[in-house]
Formats: sequence, structure tokens, C-alpha cells
Amino acid sequence: MAKKQFKAESKRLLDLMINSIYTHKEIFLREIISNASDAMDKLAYTALTDDKIAIDRSELKITITRAEDAGILTVSDRGIGMTKEELEENLGTICKSGSLGFKQEMEETEDIDIIGQFGVGFYAAFMVADSVTVISKKYGQDTAWKWVSDGADGYTITEAEREYPGTDVIMTLKKDTEDEKYTRFLQEYEIRSLVKKYSDYIRYPICMEVSKSRLKEDSPEDKPEYESYTEMDTLNSMVPIWQRNKKDVTEEEYNSFYREKFFDYNKPAKVISFNAEGSVSFKTLLYIPSKAPFDYYSKDFEAGLQLYSSGVMIMESCKDLLPEHFSFVRGVVDSQDLSLNISRELLQHDRQLKVIAKGIEKKIKFELLSMQENDRDAYEQVFAAFGRQLKYGTVAQYGAHKEATQDLLLFYSNAQQKLITLKQYVEAMAEGQEKIYYVSGESPERLSKLPQVKLLADKGYDVLLFTEEVDEFIPQTLMTYSEKSFCNAATEDLGLQSEEEKEQLKQQTEQKQSLLTFVKDSLDQKVSQVRLSANLGDAPVCMVPGTGMSFEMEKYMKRMNPEFNFPTERILELNPQHPAVQALEIKMAQDPETAKDYAALLCAQAQLLADLPLEDPAAYTELVCKLMK
Ligand code: ADP
Repeated sequence: MAKKQFKAESKRLLDLMINSIYTHKEIFLREIISNASDAMDKLAYTALTDDKIAIDRSELKITITRAEDAGILTVSDRGIGMTKEELEENLGTICKSGSLGFKQEMEETEDIDIIGQFGVGFYAAFMVADSVTVISKKYGQDTAWKWVSDGADGYTITEAEREYPGTDVIMTLKKDTEDEKYTRFLQEYEIRSLVKKYSDYIRYPICMEVSKSRLKEDSPEDKPEYESYTEMDTLNSMVPIWQRNKKDVTEEEYNSFYREKFFDYNKPAKVISFNAEGSVSFKTLLYIPSKAPFDYYSKDFEAGLQLYSSGVMIMESCKDLLPEHFSFVRGVVDSQDLSLNISRELLQHDRQLKVIAKGIEKKIKFELLSMQENDRDAYEQVFAAFGRQLKYGTVAQYGAHKEATQDLLLFYSNAQQKLITLKQYVEAMAEGQEKIYYVSGESPERLSKLPQVKLLADKGYDVLLFTEEVDEFIPQTLMTYSEKSFCNAATEDLGLQSEEEKEQLKQQTEQKQSLLTFVKDSLDQKVSQVRLSANLGDAPVCMVPGTGMSFEMEKYMKRMNPEFNFPTERILELNPQHPAVQALEIKMAQDPETAKDYAALLCAQAQLLADLPLEDPAAYTELVCKLMK
């Protein structure tokens, strides 16, 4: 019979894996057991949703059989089984499902050690076996099929016999070598400890025939005699980790569960285990990752929590359990109170699900806040990874979720030169300060040099320096925080002047009317208005937008939609105290042509300060050179 070939890329990976010097070959057992457990989950789930299928749950178990002399280890399950096509499809291609992430990473790094980080799946069997036979019978079908492969050059499929639906994975172990004793995987003690280590929480019994000894019935009392016998033992405790008492679970157990379940090799920033009692009771184990997955901010990322009910996994990732703004959280939810005899679609509208989701949202917020307070470094790491999502969540739906997110946000403080919360900003506000000031732009370094920011700093007022696109939408969405309104220091009235000062500026403006008109005219249509400002500190000029939209927002809109063509009005502000402005005024009377050049120069400086590109850098350079001569 002709052998079928593995798909090309599968083969390459397979070779890499089998011949790797990878030391954790023992994980093969975990992978095979986990597949068996999944197969029974599938059967149990199908039975729940299909009245025609009746299964006896007590039959759902995994059996490990050791044939020591023949060197064969078998793992059998009473799961859903596979058809001939499914055997081909599932076992003929290595790069499926869970293995996909593995494959990508592998191509990037060629680092063999990452095998342990991903669910490598069924193929792990070839790390310990020369040949693997899979006999499977699909639930509801009469024929069983046998798939045989020695890993290297393909596989065969033939008809076979199997009494019940389910699957046997029969592994003929490799011969022992100097470095690796494969026969240890046939030893009772070894298997027992591997199951304990990797598969203890599997919710079906993992059974194995074990040898025991007992006192012989007719053993004389003064000289006890023992006999050995065999018995089926259940090797795993079957209590899922989230069902266990928090204090009985070690950090390492929590972390390794996370690693294996969610394929993230970075230690989670926070593990949250909690039980809720009430109209709906549930247990949940949540993880806040410390790093964002590479696809987190893309539409490929699948958010959601794994949903279990009475020990049956009903959804791999249930979106409705997590609000958008916390979509980075991973975890498991288990509730006995969910009505199960409904389809997945119906489940989404389940009232109970909403109750659970609400509880989970509250808990995540609480834990993040306490982390923010008690473990700031860890929180900042989480914020670096997911802060953007928290910000999006704040502005989404016109701020519908702001209560959950606003206190979790961090912004860069000009006064403190570090990230702070809005609460910290308000608490540190100076006597008499009414507003929460912010500016947005490229980097904190550049922003802190803006004249308005310097002016505020001189008064002892802090300014939040926004550097992400979404930042500026936040004050617009929140409107106020702790009853304080927000003020964009670069575009809005800082509200610092007294009535007296305002009057003074008005008078000055009247006096300098001819200067203002001159500058405006000489700049042609470049600015819509030229005015005096008392906010400029030691800067000569400043460019401010005339409407509500800041220049940063304008740039953002342009990036989002290149067709966008509503440039903000530009207003040039002059500092009447500044020598350069005074020089311009004097020149205006003596030499209007040069004064025009001065005006153009100041206008260009205002643009540069506001981070606006110059329309004609060459002309600007020429102008500067001309004036220097
Ligand atoms: P993964 O488990 O990540 O999907 P595997 O390589 O371990 O990847 O398995 C591939 C597929 O083969 C599984 O998704 C499943 O459909 C099928 N499979 C493997 N083992 C079994 C089993 N014991 N019973 C039924 N199906 C199985």
C-alpha cells in the first residue's frame, strides 16, 4: 500500500522536532492526554445540544496501558473519535490550530526550546516513539480506521476494528540511548508523576492498571506474607485548578496552567482567582498578561474567556464575558448556573452571562487599581502593553464605560516627569488652579518646551503631556474629572488672567493695532488672525488653532482620511514684551520691506514651535540667510 506524504512544511517541522535535542520530551504525554480530554469534551457538548445522543458520563475516561516487554504505551479515550477524513486532515498536517503559533515562531527564531511553550499537539508523540498507530471510531459511525506512521515518510490508513467510539494512540517507544531513557515512559512511577505534573486538572479520570501488594489471606501472623495484584487507579485529582482552594495552589501551578492554556511564555502580571455567590454563582481564574500578544491590536486577536458549565467546556472563547476595554484579560469561567440546553447563539443573550460579565468587569477593575497602588512597576508594565486599549475603551461609545476605565489611565506629568493618574493630578493641583491642563504632540521633551507649558510650570501648575493619538479624545469624552474641566493649554484660554490683566491686554491691542494689521497683511492668507497674547512667557510668538480642533487632531484626521481637508484656522499670537516683536515694530516704521521679512520669520518660528511643517523650508532658509547678511 502506498504511503501518503505529509504536507511539505509539516515534514520540515516534524524533522526539526523529532531530531531536536529538546529535553522535555516528557510533554508528549500531556499533549496526547489533552487531546483525549478535548475529544470527550466534544462528545459531552454534542450530547448536551443534541437530544438524540445519550452518553453515560461515567464512561468518559482516559486509559493508559503499558506493554513493557513490547515497549508500547497506549492512551485510549472514549471521546468523539475521528472519521477517515478527519484522521487524514487532523493528523496529516502538522500546522493546524494550536501548532500554528508554534510554526510562525519557529520560522522566526529556529529556536528549538520553544517547543515547550506551545501546544505542539499530537506530533509530540514522535519525540518518544518510532512509530505511532491511531485507531479511531467516530461517534455514530460503524467503521473504525487505523492510521499508522513512523513520522519520517508519511502514513497509511486502513480499516480497523474498535468496539466503542473513541481513539487509541499506540506509541512504540524508541530504543534507549545514552542521553535518553525512553523506557522510563513505561514505568508506573514515571507516568504517575507526569500525569500529576501536567494533567492533574484534566476533568476526566485518567486510569492506569497499577500493581499493588497486600497481605495474604492465610498469612501467618508471626511471619506476614504479601502478594501482589493489579488494580485500576485514577491518577489525576480531576479538580480543575480554578476549582481548587486558592491557598492550596502554588504560584508555579497557576503560571504553568496559564502558559499551557494560553500559549504565553511570559509570566502573567497578575493572577486573579475568585468565586462569586449570588443570583448566579461562578468561579473564575483570570490572568492579566504582562506583554501584549503580537496580534493584540489587530483584528486577528480573539478576545474572550473560556466558559465551562458543570465541568463541560461550552465555549473556547466567550466574548460576552469581557468588555472591550479589558479584552486583554485571559482566563476561565465556570458556572453551574448556566442553562446549557441552548445553542451557542442563544447563550450570548443569556441573562446569567450578563451577571457574570458584570462581576468580572468589577473584579478586574478592582485588581488593576490595587496593582496600581501597591505594585506600581508591574502596573506600568501592564499599562505599557494595554494602556492604549484602556484609552480606546474610555472614549468608545461616547464614554459609556468611563467609570470602569478613567482611573486606570496614566499620562505623563510635566511637573513630576513620570506617569500619573488623573486622580494624582487633581490631588496635586495648586492652590487656585481650576483646570486640568494638557497639551498633545510628539514627545514629552518637545511638549515641555511649549511656551504655554512653561508659563503654567512657572505658576506651579502641572500639565499632562499627551503623546498618543487617542489621548486628545479623552478630555473631550470625559468633559470633566472630579468636577474639574480640562483645558488644552496650546489652544484654549488658560484662564489665568484677571479682569485687570484682560483690560490691559485690550488696551495694548488697541495701541498696537497697526502692528497687528501689518503682520496680518504681510503674511498674506497664511493666518486668519494676528493678536497679542499674555501667555507666551519668554517666547516671541505662538501659533494657535482658531476652532476647537487642535493641530494634533488635524494631523490625526488627515492620517485617518487623506481626503480630509478642513484645515484648522491658524492664529498667530505675538508677545508684545519680546524684543523680537519690538524690533519688528520699529522696523515697520523705518523699513517696511525688511519688516515684512521679520514677520515671515516670526510666523515660521511659530509654526516650528507648534510642530507644524513649514510649507517651504528652502524659502525659510533663504530668508534667514538674507537677514543675517
Ligand atoms: P490541537 O490539539 O492543538 O488541535 P493536535 O495536533 O494535537 O492539535 O491535534 C489535531 C487534531 O486532531 C485535533 O484538533 C483533533 O481534532 C484531532 N485529534 C487529536 N487527538 C484526538 C483524539 N484523541 N480524539 C479525537 N480527535 C483527536
